[in-house]
Amino acid sequence: IQSTMQEGALTISSLLEHSRKFYPESTVSTWTGSELRTASFAEIGDQSARLANALSKLGIGIGDRVATFMWNNNEHQTLYAAVPSMGAVLHTLNLRLSPEQAIYIMNHAEDKVVFVDASVAPLLQNYVPEAPSVKDVVVVNGPKDAFTAPEGVTVHSWDELLEGESTQYEWPELDERAAAAMCYTSGTTGDPKGVVYSHRSIYLHSFQVISTAGMALSNADTSLVIVPMFHAMSWGMPYAALMCGASLIHPDRFLQPEPLLTIMKEARPTMAAAVPTIWSGVSALLEAAPQDISHLREVVVGGSAVPPSMITKFDEYGAPIVHAWGMTETSPLGSVARVPAGVDDEDKAFAYRVTQGRFPAPVNARIVDADGNVLPNDGEASGELEVAGPWITGAYYSPEGNVSDPAKFDDGWLRTGDVATISPDGYMTIVDRTKDIIKTGGEWISSVDLENVIAGHPDILECTVIGVPDPKWDERPFVLAVVKEGSTLDVAGARAWLQERVPRWQVPERWTFGEEVPKTSVGKFDKKRVRQHYAEGLYE
Ligand code: ADP
Repeated sequence: IQSTMQEGALTISSLLEHSRKFYPESTVSTWTGSELRTASFAEIGDQSARLANALSKLGIGIGDRVATFMWNNNEHQTLYAAVPSMGAVLHTLNLRLSPEQAIYIMNHAEDKVVFVDASVAPLLQNYVPEAPSVKDVVVVNGPKDAFTAPEGVTVHSWDELLEGESTQYEWPELDERAAAAMCYTSGTTGDPKGVVYSHRSIYLHSFQVISTAGMALSNADTSLVIVPMFHAMSWGMPYAALMCGASLIHPDRFLQPEPLLTIMKEARPTMAAAVPTIWSGVSALLEAAPQDISHLREVVVGGSAVPPSMITKFDEYGAPIVHAWGMTETSPLGSVARVPAGVDDEDKAFAYRVTQGRFPAPVNARIVDADGNVLPNDGEASGELEVAGPWITGAYYSPEGNVSDPAKFDDGWLRTGDVATISPDGYMTIVDRTKDIIKTGGEWISSVDLENVIAGHPDILECTVIGVPDPKWDERPFVLAVVKEGSTLDVAGARAWLQERVPRWQVPERWTFGEEVPKTSVGKFDKKRVRQHYAEGLYE
C-alpha cells in the first residue's frame, strides 16, 4: 500500500523561514574585539532576503557558486542562510590555504562572486586575477577600497549592496537533492577535493546536531562557534540554529585563548565547539589565570582525537567535553560519544567518553581489512572505517561529472582513511589515520595512542608523534613536543615517565622539544609538515 504522508521538500529556505517565524528573538552575535554586535534572527532573515535580491541583480541564479572568504560573523551567517535559499551554492573558502590551493579551488568550483572580509582582502587580491570566473567581489566589514578590482571585476561593499533591497524574497521551489553548499577538503595529499552538500543532506544533518544523541543544540543554548565556517560548515551549527532557535556567538578573527576567554566571560555561552588544539591553548591560559567556564554545559571537541587528559581537565573546569568524530565528507557529524544508559560508574563512563562514540541511525559504519573483508564489531579487530548514509558524500565534485574513485569509495561506502575498532555496543575508537600508523619491527604503534599518553604529562603543552625511518626497525616513533614555560623536563625524564605507561618497545628514542607543533589550515597538528621538517633535519 502507499503511505498517506505528504511530501515537503527539506530545503534551507524552509529552515530560514522557520527561524524567522518561530525564533525571531534568538540572536547571532559577532565579537568585534571589544564587544558583541548582535542581530536577531528576524534581522538576519531580513538581511538574507535583501542579500538574495541583491545577488539576483548581480545575475546570480540557480546553481551559481557564491564563495565566501570570511571569518565567522553575522554576515557569514546571513550568506549561509540566503545563498542556498535562493538556489545558488554557498562555497566556503578556507582562509589559510596556500595561494596555489586557493586559486585551484576557485577555478575548479567556478566561483562567480566572492564575499571577503576587509581584514583578509589583501590575500584574496592575489587570487582573483587568476580566477577568471569571478565577476564580483563584495567587501564585508570594511570599505570597498580594501580590495582593488582587477580588470573585469566589480567591487561592492556589503552595506551598499544590500541598501534599499526588499526584506522579502520569493524563494524558489527547489528539489531537496539540489546542491546547497560546497566545501573542499584541505588536501593533505594531492589536490583538494570538493564535497557538495544538498539541501536534504544539510537538513537531515541539522536534526543530528539538535538531537540529544548528537550535539543536543537547543533553543536554550547560546553556542560559541569557534570552529570556522570554512571548516566543514562549522560542524553544522549555523543551520541547526535556524532549526532549533539556538543563539550563536561568532568570534570573527579573534581565535586566540585570550579573546575567547574574554568572550566567554562577557557572553557566558552554554556550549562551544572547536578542535583540540584550541582547547589546549584555552586550558593553558586558564591554568595561569583561572576563570569560571562552568557556564559551558558542554564543549564539543573533534577533528582530531581528544586526549583523555583534556577530558579530565575540562571536567575539573565544570565544562564537560563531548567527543565527536567526523569529516568534511560526512557533513561533518559522524559519531558522538555519549555514555550509554545504565552506566553510572564514573570510570566506566569515562571509558566511553574517550572513544569517538556511536553513529546516528542514518549513518552506517563498518570496518574492513586490506582485502575488503568486513571485520567484526568486537572492539578488538581494527580496520579501515567505512561509512554510508544520507549526509555522507558518495563522490567528489568535478565540473565534468562527479567522481567516485575506487580508492576513496567502496561499493557505495566512503573509505575514511581512518583505522578504527567498533565495540559490540557500537562505540567506535579511532586507532589512527591509515597513513600515520607507525610500523615498527612488524608491529604497529598508534600515533594517536602515544600522543594521548604523552599529552597527559603535566609539563607538556602539546605534542605530535610521527613514524620516521629506522635502519633496524623500518620505522620508529618521533615526538615533537612543546613544554610549559619554566619546565625542566628533558628527554630522559619524559622517557622514564612514559615507560611506566606504555609497553617498553613503544617508548620513542627520538624527541625534540620545540617552540610549537605546526598546524594545518583548520588547526590540527600538521604531521605532513612535521615529516618534511624531520626529513630536512630541522629537528636535529
Ligand atoms: P582534514 O583531512 O584536512 O583534517 P577533515 O576536517 O575533514 O579534514 O578531517 C577528517 C579527519 O579528521 C578524519 O578522517 C579523522 O582522521 C580526523 N578526525 C576527526 N575527528 C576525529 C576524532 N574525534 N578523533 C580522531 N580523529 C578525528
